[in-house]
Amino acid sequence: MKKWVYLFDELGIIEDRVGRDFESVKALLGGKGANLAEMARIGVPVPPGFTVTTEACNAFLAAGMVFPEGMWEEVQGALKAVEKRCGKKFGDRDNPLLLSCRSGARTSMPGMMDTVLNIGMNDATAQSMIKLIGDERFVFDAYRRLIQMFGTVVMGIADDLFEDVITRVKRERNVLNDGDLDGGAWKGITAEFKGIFRSHASRHFPEDPVEQLILATEAVFRSWNGKRAVDYRNAAGIPHDLGTAVNVVTMVFGNMGADSATGVALTRNGTTGENRIEGDYLTNAQGEDVVAGIRMTNDLSELEREMPRAYSEFREVAENLEKHFREMQDVEFTIEKGKLWMLQTRDGKRTAQAAVRIAVEMAREGLITREEAVKRVSAEQVDFFLHPQFESAAMKAARDSGNLLAEGLNVSPGAACGVIALDADLAEAWATNEGKKVIMVRPETKPDDVHGMLAAEGILTSRGGRTSHAALVARQFGKPAVVGVSSMEIDMNLRRIKVGDRVITEGSVISLDGTGGEVYLGELSTKVPDIKDPWLMELLGWADDFRKLGVWANADYPRDAERALSYGAEGIGLCRSEHMFFEAERLPLFQKMIMADLPSEQQEALGALLPFQREDFAGLFRVMDDLPVIIRLIDPPLHEFLPSIVGLIKELADLKLRLKHAGTMGDIDALLLEIKEKENLLARAESLREENPMLGLRGVRLGIHIPELTSMQVRAIFEAACMVTREGKKVRPEVMIPLTSHVNELRVQQERLEAEAQKVMAEQGITVDYKFGTMIEIPRAALTTDEIAEVASFISFGTNDLTQTTFGISRDDAEAGFLIEYMEKGILKENPFAVIDAAGVGELMRISVEKARGARPGMECGICGEHGGEPRSIALCHELGLNYVSCSPFRVPVARLAAAHAALTRREKAVSAREPSLDHSGERPN
Ligand code: ADP
Ligand code: MG
Ligand code: MG
Repeated sequence: MKKWVYLFDELGIIEDRVGRDFESVKALLGGKGANLAEMARIGVPVPPGFTVTTEACNAFLAAGMVFPEGMWEEVQGALKAVEKRCGKKFGDRDNPLLLSCRSGARTSMPGMMDTVLNIGMNDATAQSMIKLIGDERFVFDAYRRLIQMFGTVVMGIADDLFEDVITRVKRERNVLNDGDLDGGAWKGITAEFKGIFRSHASRHFPEDPVEQLILATEAVFRSWNGKRAVDYRNAAGIPHDLGTAVNVVTMVFGNMGADSATGVALTRNGTTGENRIEGDYLTNAQGEDVVAGIRMTNDLSELEREMPRAYSEFREVAENLEKHFREMQDVEFTIEKGKLWMLQTRDGKRTAQAAVRIAVEMAREGLITREEAVKRVSAEQVDFFLHPQFESAAMKAARDSGNLLAEGLNVSPGAACGVIALDADLAEAWATNEGKKVIMVRPETKPDDVHGMLAAEGILTSRGGRTSHAALVARQFGKPAVVGVSSMEIDMNLRRIKVGDRVITEGSVISLDGTGGEVYLGELSTKVPDIKDPWLMELLGWADDFRKLGVWANADYPRDAERALSYGAEGIGLCRSEHMFFEAERLPLFQKMIMADLPSEQQEALGALLPFQREDFAGLFRVMDDLPVIIRLIDPPLHEFLPSIVGLIKELADLKLRLKHAGTMGDIDALLLEIKEKENLLARAESLREENPMLGLRGVRLGIHIPELTSMQVRAIFEAACMVTREGKKVRPEVMIPLTSHVNELRVQQERLEAEAQKVMAEQGITVDYKFGTMIEIPRAALTTDEIAEVASFISFGTNDLTQTTFGISRDDAEAGFLIEYMEKGILKENPFAVIDAAGVGELMRISVEKARGARPGMECGICGEHGGEPRSIALCHELGLNYVSCSPFRVPVARLAAAHAALTRREKAVSAREPSLDHSGERPN
């Protein structure tokens, strides 16, 4: 027989059943219940109570809204035990016990039933409580709260109906605050509330305490399948079969006078991570008054002055909770006539900055290990340091002044401000024609909306989940986005949105926090967090001790290399040597090289380019003293360096028109000359035109076709290397040949280039440590890396091209088009250009590495595609045993952490595989 109900001090019985794994306890008791029981176990003052399990909820729903057999008897039994502990009786006339009924799923989620306080009150208990406590005001305030909460939460009556009464009575009595109403006023309000209850719930308010408890429990169970909760779970990808628990807790009262209070606190600062308890409280108030924001709360520091004894006890409890759970805690407490009660604890929410600082400081304090500190910070949290974010002070101010408009799913991080545009065309028009910053707001998005989304700063939708079109596109293009804001109604006719009773017209400014999933009215100030944050630096230093993968960076210019180095890069994995050819003074020289009819002309142009390239490379070598620098020889096809054919045709038409109307002979001559030049350019561009340049004359093919060009690059590399060596630095150039598919290509090209390198070194009388190698970006190369390894001494995966050539799709066409459709339809789970496709591309990489090292033991294998900075791809690279990942300098910190995570996860797996009897996840925090 199942046990459905557990007292808070019955954790031991649960553990006999599910083991000492706290996650299993949470699954059964919900987060709130498990933590209440854990607090009770370690001697924290928790009001007596019990939890009805998530299993009971599931059984109740499965049976068609009927409590499972034996459950109610167990509730009554638990109630008896609680009564005994408190010395009060539920429903008793002389000394009544009051209870709260609180929902609590495994993770807290919107849509679950709110708490009902003061269960057990009725006309009779109210009278006896007045006699006992002697405070009519307190008793009727509590009674009306029960009717109001029971009415709204359990019966679904609109809260306005109740609040309007309070507002009216306050006006009649000419008082401002709820607290200023006397007992008589609350008594009258209580009577009125009963009337509202009767007419809107079509029944009398249940005077029977047991009936109150039954109805409240049923309502919590039912709320698991409420529309909002189901929508939320669908959107957030939470399973529907977890169920919610019900926590029944003895009421304690923070509103029993000047020696009573209620409050919330974080054991450390949730914004900065500073190790200082922070919180808000109210004297003489009940729990929901603090969070509801109706009354101005006090800073926790004042409690120290107001109630020093209770405060110091609270501090001690908070510190113990943190030590016990080994995490920053978010706690709720109540002080009743000087006696402290803890009502809730859970791991506290925090900003990325706070997460980093807390992890580092907890490790320094010896509370957790360095491994744990590294594991606790996610790659996304490091990523956070790289993008503009709303300032926490601005968000708090907006919240405090009621400008937090709505909340939804945080599907694409970052901060964005702009005016609301309700359709894609308008978003695009405002952004491009009027230079406005726009937030595109739609019920949901479709492929026709993409142009507007690209023009917008951020995207907001009322429907959809994490894999909706809007979410996918936003992540794809790095646009902050919040989706599934179900409280928002979009009225396309009146061109406005409504949230509750607020109306916001199109064109109004809003701020979107894609990191936290919040929408604010007005413009919030942003700032870029400091990546040089001392705690982050320390954490990354620890990560370096754990990781096996090297972290290199892609950098074309010395300033990028400097940044990479300062972020902790250990080499340059990709310098794209052709980028320099596009620069102002060099492009004409490069075009001249392309246009040359005679070898001598070509040599002349290349000769003029050589010093430029030499300086480029020398700059990199100087920065990367004694670190490897991989320079990739020219990759793009030549036509990319020429003006577009269409442009040339237009220009020619223009020139010819001008020729017609030209006045002087001088003008005509000049025009004719220009026309001749353009015609040559056009002829050349046309002769270089390819149907499919991506698969055309590029990479090693181009090097074979014009060996003088790559020879010049190699000469520049080695002249620079010798030069910088002479300056006293250690230079480690690695020359990388792109787009190889057959070893013979490499043989032809590399032999020639290596000879050139030898020649330069002989000329200069200096030898440098160098390598020649190739990129692996074509499946054939991956499958024949053993042959390739006979020539190449290193390989680097160009996973962007490798993904294109493996899938046979062009990235630009796919991402702007059918790829989103594929992801929406679930054909592809993930964009393979963002996360390496492990089964296909990853498998090719695996074969390639194996063959490479088979032919050339210990061969250097790396990755230089954008994937090299993406955490899941980094984990794959770790599994494949690559030597390093190379990514953009900005991603280096993320990669350092992700590489450490990969190594630590691997280590854990290895340990649990070796010692299957030792259940590591089963360790309870202590
Ligand atoms: P939530 O999950 O929304 O935080 P809770 O169940 O924690 O809901 O309760 C809401 C408020 O009611 C909290 O501020 C809490 O302090 C208060 N509360 C709940 N149970 C009790 C109780 N037994 N005695 C006093 N206050 C309570
Ligand atoms: Mg709570
Ligand atoms: Mg490539």
